[in-house]
Amino acid sequence: MKAMVLENICRLDENARPLRMITLPDPVPGKGEIVLKLSVCGVCHTELDEIEGRTPPTVLPMVLGHQAVGRVAAIGLDANRFTKGDRVGVAWIFSACGSCDFCRTGRENLCSEFLATGRDANGGYAEYMRVSEDFVYAIPDSLEDAEAAPLLCAGAIGYRSMRLAGVSNGQHLGLTGFGASAHLVLKMVTHRYPESKVFVFARSKKEREFARHLGACWAGNIGEPPPEPLDAVIDTTPAWKPVMEALKCLRPGGRLVINAIRKESRDSDLLMQLDYPAHLWMEKEIKSVANVARQDVREFLEIAADIPIKPEYREYALEDANTALMELKHGKIRGAKVLRIG
Ligand SMILES: [Zn+2]
Ligand SMILES: [Zn+2]
Repeated sequence: MKAMVLENICRLDENARPLRMITLPDPVPGKGEIVLKLSVCGVCHTELDEIEGRTPPTVLPMVLGHQAVGRVAAIGLDANRFTKGDRVGVAWIFSACGSCDFCRTGRENLCSEFLATGRDANGGYAEYMRVSEDFVYAIPDSLEDAEAAPLLCAGAIGYRSMRLAGVSNGQHLGLTGFGASAHLVLKMVTHRYPESKVFVFARSKKEREFARHLGACWAGNIGEPPPEPLDAVIDTTPAWKPVMEALKCLRPGGRLVINAIRKESRDSDLLMQLDYPAHLWMEKEIKSVANVARQDVREFLEIAADIPIKPEYREYALEDANTALMELKHGKIRGAKVLRIG
C-alpha cells in the first residue's frame, strides 16, 4: 500500500517536507482486529507536535494521522462487530488497557497504557489501516467521509473541552485560536446553548471574519479585551500568550481549558509574569484536556449528525500531506484539512 510516513523527527522551519511516500506491505488483521480501506484522513495540529518531537512517535517510520474514515476490507479472527463494506472511522484513541481504574470508570483517555493512533501505531495517512474493532466508530449516514473525518478529532476533543469547560446555556464562552476544533465548538454552542455568547480571539483577520460569519458575537486579536467577562475559555493555540490573556478575561470562578497536547516553548518566559490577583485570584481554574475517550467520539458523532454539524474543510491529495501540514503550521486555516486517499 501507499503510505506517507515520518522517518525522522525534524524542525519544520528547516524541512518543509517531513513525510515521504513509500510502499508498505498491506496490513493483515489479527485477532479482534479489522483492516480498513481508507478514503480520507483529517490533518491535525498534533501531527506537527509529532514531527517536531514534542510528542514523538514511539517507533519510526510511522504513518501519521488519527482522523481516518474508510470501509471494512478484511476481518480478523473473533472480530464480529462489523461486516465487510461497513463505513467506519478511527480516532486518536488507538487502545487503552481496559482494566485500570481509569479505564473502568470511563476515563480511558487517562490510562497509563493509552496508545495513540498515528503516534504509537500506524494511522490514516495510508491506503489501508489495521485497528482493533473495539476502537472503531460507525459513521452516521448523513455525513460524507470528508465531513466525518474532522469530527473524529477536532470535533470529539472540542466536545470534551466543552464538557470540561462546564458552560451552561446563557454563559459566555471564549475561544482562543480558531482552527478546526474551535470552529466546530462554535457551531455546537450556537445550537446547544442558543443564549450563550461566544467571543473569539484569533491572530489573523481572516480567522476573525470566519468566526463572525459562523456566529461569534465578537472576534478580536489575542490580547484585545472582550466587551464582557467570560465564564470559560477554551484555548487551542500552541503558545502561552493566549493563556495569560485568557486568564485575565475570566469572571470570578471562571475556568480556562487548555486543549493542546503540547505547547511550544517560544514564549514560555511569559509565565514568569503571572500576576496572582489579575490571573488566578477569585477561584479561577486552569484545566488541560488529555486525549479522548471512545464515549466522546460516539456522543459527538451523534450530536453532529443530529444538529447537523458539518465542518468547513479543504481537501488535499494524500501525496500533498506535506503541503497541508505546512499550511497548518503557518496558520493558513479556514476550518479543517482533509487528505483524499481513495
Ligand atoms: Zn487530532
Ligand atoms: Zn487503562
